Amino acid sequence: SKLYVISSYKLSEMAIEFSISQLKTYVILIQGMDTQEFRARGKEMVDYICDYMDGLSSRRVTPNVEPGYLRNMLPKEAPTHPEDWETIMSDVDRKIMPGVAHWQHPRFHAYFPSGNSYPSILGDMLSDAIGCIGFSWAASPVCTELETIVLDWFGKAIGLPDEFIASTPGSKGGGVIQSSASECILVSMLAARAQAIRNLKKENPDMEDSAFLPRLVAYCSEEAHSCVEKAAMISLVKLRILETDEKCSLRGETLQQKMEDDVAQGLVPFFVSATLGTTGSCSFDTLTEIGPVCRKFPAVWLHVDGAYAGNAMICPENKYLMAGIQYADSFNTNPNKWLLVNFDCSTYWVRDRLRLTSALIVDPLYLQHANSDEAIDYRHWGVPLSRRFRALKLWFVIRKYGIKGLQSYIRNHCRLAKSFETLVKKDSRFEVVNDVRMGLVCFRLRGTDRLNQDLLASINGSGKLHMIPSLVKGRYIIRFCVVAEHANEADIDHAWEVIQEHTSDLLSLYTIEKIAPIPVKPTPEITPKPPMQRKLTRRLSFTRSVSKEMYRRSMSRSSLHDGATPIIVPEDEDNINPEQENTIFDTMADWVERNDLTLNETKEKAGTTFTAHIKDRMNAAMTKNRINHYE
Ligand code: PLP
Repeated sequence: SKLYVISSYKLSEMAIEFSISQLKTYVILIQGMDTQEFRARGKEMVDYICDYMDGLSSRRVTPNVEPGYLRNMLPKEAPTHPEDWETIMSDVDRKIMPGVAHWQHPRFHAYFPSGNSYPSILGDMLSDAIGCIGFSWAASPVCTELETIVLDWFGKAIGLPDEFIASTPGSKGGGVIQSSASECILVSMLAARAQAIRNLKKENPDMEDSAFLPRLVAYCSEEAHSCVEKAAMISLVKLRILETDEKCSLRGETLQQKMEDDVAQGLVPFFVSATLGTTGSCSFDTLTEIGPVCRKFPAVWLHVDGAYAGNAMICPENKYLMAGIQYADSFNTNPNKWLLVNFDCSTYWVRDRLRLTSALIVDPLYLQHANSDEAIDYRHWGVPLSRRFRALKLWFVIRKYGIKGLQSYIRNHCRLAKSFETLVKKDSRFEVVNDVRMGLVCFRLRGTDRLNQDLLASINGSGKLHMIPSLVKGRYIIRFCVVAEHANEADIDHAWEVIQEHTSDLLSLYTIEKIAPIPVKPTPEITPKPPMQRKLTRRLSFTRSVSKEMYRRSMSRSSLHDGATPIIVPEDEDNINPEQENTIFDTMADWVERNDLTLNETKEKAGTTFTAHIKDRMNAAMTKNRINHYE
């Protein structure tokens, strides 16, 4: 009809042509994908996903790409015109998939699990289709109501005290889904801060809120996740990072001592974050001691972070690890880590929702509604206003697996971790360094930190397994986490075989070196070692790693930190003799030259054979044209 109007004005031919091209643009712009095409493409996508999941084990666990790989493969500008689906999907295969680290791969043993299951994926799909933004009850009533109910189900299943359950008669508490454990800890700290400032203001009503900040102190252990530091940084409060006992557990006495010292100095303890299942070694803080200490300081808010291990409380045999939870003001666990629910789904409960919301409430008229008084408005429970319908996927998962199915899933991971621990303990070259109670085993080769770094670098470089390191009590350890939904004994045996194979290769390299140094060409000029910072980011690819320099600068030998002071200590240069290292390096260089390998072959072999440190030095040598095959 637009065309008709235009032509009836008897425009010149050129003008009509121009108008038609505009019209085409208009039509194209609204094209996107219609229902019919979505039906077809959606089914294809489900097939694609199933093939991906079933075929995972034939892929490398981690990608073999360099930073910036994608920039050269994609156009510099966004497409002006629509592209067809086949072209897009072919780019998924050729350009996207090569850069994926496969977290659902049966040989992925790094971090904690990234929850995933078909019912959860379907829940998210439906939620995306409904596409509501449930910031208030009125904005989409079921979005709020299902969230409250499912959080009650799950809270009861893991054995939270009745006060945390919204449906308990007279309850002031309840649960909510946040995006991440970091967010749960941040909002807890903000609520605690508001409460502490309110208390202090009673004595000094004329003072500005911000004037109280320098007196507020939060506490966590040296094993707590770095997100507690981040929360302290955002909240502009001091954080005291406390020592743990030999089992990496924060004890009540340590906390009490520090809090009393702080009070004596005129500071005000206001927040404690205890952890059930730390990231580094899955240790458990002693809540039965920490809780009573917190009660002695009435303004203190006790938060309990069970991001990973909290899910395991669904099994009655694990509930003893939560003893003392009755002292907590808030608790979080992430079903998107260890309960088969896709990111994001961090479940968070408070004992008293008013204490939480009073720190976060803003209520402009356009967001108010007639049922504000009787209904929950989750926008007051967190930072974002907009909220997805995340309860659907949790509801799907709980219903499809049932509590029994979820218990079997957790138990299978715990059992397999025990099997892995047994294998490690049988090999006298290794030691297990944590109490294996969940799905995480921390182990190390008896020897230097460097030896362990090299072992991990060589395994990860092979693409056959993926694990990450951590520092536990100042020692470099390797974390092996059971991750895949259907992990089984064969996966554990396979992982152990790979680890043993790489260990034997690595140790033979070290032994050859010790017994019979290989004669080498005249000592080559060696480029100075790369700066420490670069090396550390490669080796300690962990949430808290910092450079040694930075650590030294910030290290005051005090445990009191303002905001985000780095707390992981990179290990010292270990005891590898530089001469030995030169010899190994030259042997490798010879080996590469004599075999006259192509660049790709060299890179492949380097990934599987060379240790990260040697690889660094070879890269440095390459810039001097010593080994021109090596990139
Ligand atoms: N707390 C613990 C114990 C963790 O292990 C982690 C992450 O692994 C976090 C907090 C941070 O979790 P998120 O990524 O959900 O913020």
